[in-house]
Amino acid sequence: MVNNTSPENPVISLVVPMFNESEVLSAFFDRVVGVMNGLHESYEIICVNDGSSDDTLERLVAERERDSRIKIVDLSRNFGKELALTAGIDCALGDAVIPIDADLQDPPEIIPDMVAKWRDGYEVVLAVREDRSVDSFLKRNSANWFYSVMARLGEIPIPSNAGDFRLMDRKVVESLKLIRERTRFMKGLFAWLGYKTAVIHFTREKRVAGESAWKYWKLWNFALEGVVSFSSIPLRIWSYLGVLTSFAALVYMLVIVTKTLVLGVDVPGYASLMVVILFFSGINLICLGVIGEYLGRIFIEVKQRPLYLVRETYGIKSE
Ligand code: UDP
Ligand code: MG
Repeated sequence: MVNNTSPENPVISLVVPMFNESEVLSAFFDRVVGVMNGLHESYEIICVNDGSSDDTLERLVAERERDSRIKIVDLSRNFGKELALTAGIDCALGDAVIPIDADLQDPPEIIPDMVAKWRDGYEVVLAVREDRSVDSFLKRNSANWFYSVMARLGEIPIPSNAGDFRLMDRKVVESLKLIRERTRFMKGLFAWLGYKTAVIHFTREKRVAGESAWKYWKLWNFALEGVVSFSSIPLRIWSYLGVLTSFAALVYMLVIVTKTLVLGVDVPGYASLMVVILFFSGINLICLGVIGEYLGRIFIEVKQRPLYLVRETYGIKSE
């Protein structure tokens, strides 16, 4: 039943962003191909080489020679996971598309469950991490903190502890392709789409080899991206804060004037003046920063640059 040739219309497309994943490649294919062959559905594995500096591409090409269901999109440079994923999803032909990490932190063994749920009529099957004990203390807590802030700020609830590992029906994929915003926060975009969703729980494993490319500074920027792309509250909050501080300043002014009238002038108000000036310059700078965050994103959007550039594809049909 299982053949090794690439079908015209695969039922399932796996999309794998890869950035310097040469060490984990063969382990990844071993496990994933094993699971997929057991599924008895036609499939393709779209690997997006996100500007790796190691021999990821060469090894992918070698893997493709063995199995033509492995297809490759080679990006012109490192565009980041979100865009690499977008590039892969754009090329996917399957009736269902599943983004999956190359480092096997998303266990491929639950793919059959996802497919079963999809066959039951769900349009999205979400894989939710049961516990993140393999992630470092700081990473886990910052993630929890992020999800709770997002739950309060965002207009669309983003399911907590769900990564990009999920199954999407063709309908959902076509909707996702309509979203062409440049600063992409995939988790938010996925949530924004809606559709009938089922949830599967799993335990996140350790990276099999290599190192996570997400350093804390990058994670922080990623979180900021999420907040700013999916909530306009940071932009609006400042008008309220402005009113509040102006009111406090007014009260303080009345106190000072009354005090001067009653007690007479004592020491020139150097201290209070400094406090007020510093406080308001601080507020001013923060407001400018917030406006800058949004303005920067508007700037990126109006440039209308392509989301990613492809150097070469292997086995991908161009439309
Ligand atoms: N990745 C990518 N481009 C990048 C960084 C990461 O395509 O700039 C891929 C990486 O190869 C992996 C997935 O995104 O398949 C998740 O990356 P990682 O394991 O570093 O993230 P974490 O699991 O720590 O969230
Ligand atoms: Mg990982």
